[in-house]
Amino acid sequence: MRKPVLIGNWKMNGSLQANQALMVRLLPRLRLYRKSVDLAVCPPLPYLFQVRDLLGYTGIALGAQNASAFVSGAYTGEVSATMLQEMGCRYVLVGHSERRTLYGESNQEVAARFRAVMNLGLTPVLCVGESLDERETEQTSSVVESQIQAVIDEVGFSALANGVVAYEPVWAIGTGRTATPEQVSVVHQNIRGFIAANAPEASQDISEGLRIIYGGSVKPSNALDLFSLADVDGGLIGGASLHAEDFGSIAGSLAKASGILEGECETH
Ligand code: PEP
Repeated sequence: MRKPVLIGNWKMNGSLQANQALMVRLLPRLRLYRKSVDLAVCPPLPYLFQVRDLLGYTGIALGAQNASAFVSGAYTGEVSATMLQEMGCRYVLVGHSERRTLYGESNQEVAARFRAVMNLGLTPVLCVGESLDERETEQTSSVVESQIQAVIDEVGFSALANGVVAYEPVWAIGTGRTATPEQVSVVHQNIRGFIAANAPEASQDISEGLRIIYGGSVKPSNALDLFSLADVDGGLIGGASLHAEDFGSIAGSLAKASGILEGECETH
């Protein structure tokens, strides 16, 4: 059984004061679900230390929004997976659409970043998804498959299992426009099917074990419908992760959709 995972991507938001205020309100809410759902927050790099201390021993993980493909050296502005590991990160996003579109990260570059994160034993969260134009010209499957194939080419099939795949249609990120449950269901099934169809004999179980999460304007009002879909194993949340009530409520929807509520975990 795949344990659901919920990750908050703070993007380039926050301040020492705002982070403290957010975490004080968020932690009691997230604690309710930490046994049934893997939970993580990804603050901007300068705040990793602060947020790591605030998370303490809550069991809620720290994540980062990107990592270099290189271990060290003359790469001004980059941060290595080793450094993130030292800071206590467990998850690292790779290939977020903002990195792909605004900073030109190619499929191959994203795959190299995935490898660097994976090599350190951290969990890479591979973000994939199509633009509106690509959806309208019926290229969704081929775009998403080529984004995943680049990682398979880089690390091999079985290594894919070290990561999480986040399906995030570009047109739904930060736009308030959410993909419908039908659209999400089709793409998640296609991703699992693509991996199952192409995996070598020895890696057949990878598609069943791989966590595929959805991101794109998830909010309290649509979370339960999306998380109740059979092939959706959690969410990557941007804007709503900056609001304690909303992120807490979304975590509650994921726990509810997965059918394991904390009270049940503790009493049985
Ligand atoms: C994201 O940044 O990964 C994201 C899904 O953003 P939002 O929830 O704001 O659409």
